Amino acid sequence: MGAFEDRAAQNEVLFRSVNEQIEKLGRESDQQHVQFVCECSHGTCAEQIQLTLSEYEEVRSDGRWFAIVPGHLTEQIEHVVRATDRYLIVEKDTPAAVEITEDSDPRD
Ligand SMILES: [Zn+2]
Repeated sequence: MGAFEDRAAQNEVLFRSVNEQIEKLGRESDQQHVQFVCECSHGTCAEQIQLTLSEYEEVRSDGRWFAIVPGHLTEQIEHVVRATDRYLIVEKDTPAAVEITEDSDPRD
């Protein structure tokens, strides 16, 4: 576990909390798809992904899962759980990344 992995996990946690706020706003509108931010570990990523609220809920059903833009996978710390045209669901692999992401799970 190095500083890189630590930072990568922290980034994903940060974007997850942003998406929790986006989801709240999405629930108040009638949109089919909601624009969430990519939860990848690249600190400079500002891309958006479109998910329905139920798709987003599936990602949040596991504290180790994150939704990212296809191609934004960081193989050192995660692997793909589900791939679609619009987004990937990735799961954390390294114990420290798992610890960081689970400790800060907003759904706990
Ligand atoms: Zn990204």
